[in-house]
Amino acid sequence: MVDTLIVGGGPAGLAAAQYLADAGRSSTVLEKRPILGGKLSSWRDRDGDILETGLHAFFGGYTNLHALLREVGIAHHVLWQPHALTWAIPPNFSARWNGVPVYEEFRFADAPSPFNGIGAVLNARYVFNHWEKLLFAAGTLPILRGEHAYAEAQDDITYAQWHRRRGMSEHMLRTFFAPMALALNFTPVDAISAEAMLRVMAYFASSRNASRAGFLDGPPGPRFVEPLAEHVRKRGATIETNAAVGELLFSGDRCTGARTRDGRVFEAEHVVIATPVHDAKKLLPEAMQRDPLIEGVAKLQSSPVINAHLWFDRPISRFTNLMFSPGTLLGVHADLGMASPGYEWSGKSFIEACVAPADDLIAQDDDTVINAVMDDLGKLYPLATRQHLVKAKLVRVPKSVYRASPGAERLRPGSRTPVRNLFLAGCYVDTKFPASIEGATRSARMAVEAVLAESRARA
Ligand SMILES: Cc1cc2nc3c(=O)[nH]c(=O)nc-3n(C[C@H](O)[C@H](O)[C@H](O)COP(=O)(O)OP(=O)(O)OC[C@H]3O[C@@H](n4cnc5c(N)ncnc54)[C@H](O)[C@@H]3O)c2cc1C
Repeated sequence: MVDTLIVGGGPAGLAAAQYLADAGRSSTVLEKRPILGGKLSSWRDRDGDILETGLHAFFGGYTNLHALLREVGIAHHVLWQPHALTWAIPPNFSARWNGVPVYEEFRFADAPSPFNGIGAVLNARYVFNHWEKLLFAAGTLPILRGEHAYAEAQDDITYAQWHRRRGMSEHMLRTFFAPMALALNFTPVDAISAEAMLRVMAYFASSRNASRAGFLDGPPGPRFVEPLAEHVRKRGATIETNAAVGELLFSGDRCTGARTRDGRVFEAEHVVIATPVHDAKKLLPEAMQRDPLIEGVAKLQSSPVINAHLWFDRPISRFTNLMFSPGTLLGVHADLGMASPGYEWSGKSFIEACVAPADDLIAQDDDTVINAVMDDLGKLYPLATRQHLVKAKLVRVPKSVYRASPGAERLRPGSRTPVRNLFLAGCYVDTKFPASIEGATRSARMAVEAVLAESRARA
């Protein structure tokens, strides 16, 4: 019998296998899809072109994730971009800018945080005027002071409500914070919890490089997921793909393992469910989901998003960084052709964009979505025309990360369930970190610590 069965082969499941190996424990990972990686997966289409579930930036403050990458020996795959967050704003978005697109780079000096972030805002030329810079500093003071309890007390209101209560301008809300909310959770500022946004600001202000973004030097499958899977296999873990768990098995007060939909039974001393929350909801017995410990599993909802891939026959932008664009469907996007050689489109633009909010768009046909995306891209980069577009592909994710609506932060469950040897991992678990690869990795560490604590308690 294996020590721990892990349901789900995304970042949380694979990281859990790694942490279990560190503790000398055996594990089996069961993944329902033919490929590993979950929302961080990549594959090739019929033409051999790379597709992925989502554009992924790796931030400097992802401390658990970077430690994991170093342990596996793949930290060199992260290509750090200049320490700047860049806004590309379409013409006519604001009467302030005379009908031309505006590009604003918030450059972080090599100085201790939060001073490097304050400097980036103070030096902004277009997005904020002087008065707004003052309002920004005053408005975000409790966050810059690192008052976590303050952020936690703001979960009942939306970010937009909090922003207005703090006296900051509507222009700042729509220009600066709206694309940030879409990038964070694929959710508009009028619908996202203030706490979720304030936590990110606190995180950006937490260390010198926390807000510095990097991309992998190629698609996440070969650069991250497969090397991590190979590493844990070498350390004794078993990984099964095409192994969709249909039900958990229980005996008395313990979970004894799981049965896959094709009838295979896997027994274990402990079970970690490392699926997205909507899949955990299907696996956990209904009665158990009424327990206050995990009632959030039934209540949390998920955000839809579409990952758009657009290949151009030439460079269409000069930016290699993560881009934020208010007033467009491309809240966050990047030119991976120019930024990352492993995307096999060097010297030309390969744009990946998280299309959000996608609640209505997700059901539209490909042509409708691609036309809407191209319209917005053309407003940002005049060379992004149909004439220069080689190919466009969409990957729809109807249920991506948990939706950080007001009240949702409080619903995020911990690692423990009412069954002593059954645990939860995944980026929706309450790690005090947003739904992200770092959140998934942290949740895996928490779940493994809980497994080890349960073993000790039983010994
Ligand atoms: C478009 C997009 C862009 C993103 N951009 C970023 C970014 O820039 N930076 C960042 O940090 N994060 C980003 N994220 C979020 C990040 O991808 C996720 O937070 C992270 O991948 C979650 O990992 P996880 O292991 O918790 O869940 P998942 O990645 O969802 O993995 C769960 C796995 O469980 C499997 N599974 C489900 N049910 C079963 C079952 N019954 N049996 C067996 N297996 C099952 C699934 O197939 C999946 O492989 C993005 C997400 C999306 C969708």
